Amino acid sequence: MVNCKTLISNLEETNFLEKEEFVELIAQHSEEDARFLFERARAVRERFFGKSVYLRGLIEISNYCANDCYYCGIRRGNASVERYRLTEEDILCCCEEGYQLGFRTFVMQGGEDAHFTDELLVRLIREIKNRYPDCAVTLSLGERTKERYQKYYDAGADRYLLRHETANAQHYAQLHPAWMSHERRIQCLWDLKEIGYQVGTGFMVGSPYQTPEYLAEDMLFIKKLQPQMVGIGPFVPHHATPFANETGGTAELTLFMLGLLRLMMPELLLPSTTALGTIDKTGREKGLLAGANVVMPNLSPVSVRKKYDLYDNKICTGDESAQCVNCLGVRIATTGYQVEVARGDAPDWRR
Ligand code: SAH
Repeated sequence: MVNCKTLISNLEETNFLEKEEFVELIAQHSEEDARFLFERARAVRERFFGKSVYLRGLIEISNYCANDCYYCGIRRGNASVERYRLTEEDILCCCEEGYQLGFRTFVMQGGEDAHFTDELLVRLIREIKNRYPDCAVTLSLGERTKERYQKYYDAGADRYLLRHETANAQHYAQLHPAWMSHERRIQCLWDLKEIGYQVGTGFMVGSPYQTPEYLAEDMLFIKKLQPQMVGIGPFVPHHATPFANETGGTAELTLFMLGLLRLMMPELLLPSTTALGTIDKTGREKGLLAGANVVMPNLSPVSVRKKYDLYDNKICTGDESAQCVNCLGVRIATTGYQVEVARGDAPDWRR
């Protein structure tokens, strides 16, 4: 009979567990074990980050997408989404507003939309870096060739977010059509690392067909990749996708995985995600208390927010950015943590 608390202590001490040990922890832990994990995760996060929470301003630049992920509401096969894309001017407006509100990182995220050519992206990245030299620019625009990632990096992009979604190739094939390649997605992450980006990856918790084994494989893959950030959130079904009738992930398991990630990689940037706040009213607060240290409020124009519809009941789609920031500030304060106005680079980072 394994003792989960012993495994958690070992993870804290060595920053490593064997696959079977992760499986055991993920499948067998009690509520009390989880409480113990969160306590340790907070102690570790406070050693590296004190009480600071970093903000990332999320700008959802387009919901056109060439891909067809079975879980995602903006997949190209969903004919019922009203498609939009922001103009350069829209995006620069979001940055201006975000800067005033204290954001020092802008994340441009979107579907894989060919309208955003390299030329357009390079111009945008240069312009944002020009106007806000003290800010970091993060891209989250899916899979590209290494040459294209390099162009954006040379234009000044600092970071790239690309969730691996699942480290298991068979599982990947259950979540995506056959023409989408797990190997290619993983290669993208290694390319991004090699170029010199601060890299974020991640996965959904409770996606269809996921097992504790697969989650353990996610942990080991992340350990190997050594990303600067890991974004995880519960899978939340979207009504107009093939997974409409699947069961969503739980806040409980998402929080547990956050705690494990914090102990495995103490210096990680770990967002408490909107999806977590969607399935649990105080999910984002709980995420911070389980080891997370980043929040990514929406900076998109209110007119498009409902259309960036990845999953059902997504929160914060009706509020102005300023309202979102105020609301989050109040929520964060209840946890004893506080927003720091800073780029919030990974502690080991020197560019
Ligand atoms: N096109 C970009 C951005 C994807 S959207 C890319 O390929 O990286 C950002 C993340 O939302 C995805 O990586 C996925 O993990 C998550 N997501 C998509 N649909 C979801 C759903 N139904 N529930 C929870 N998270 C979802």
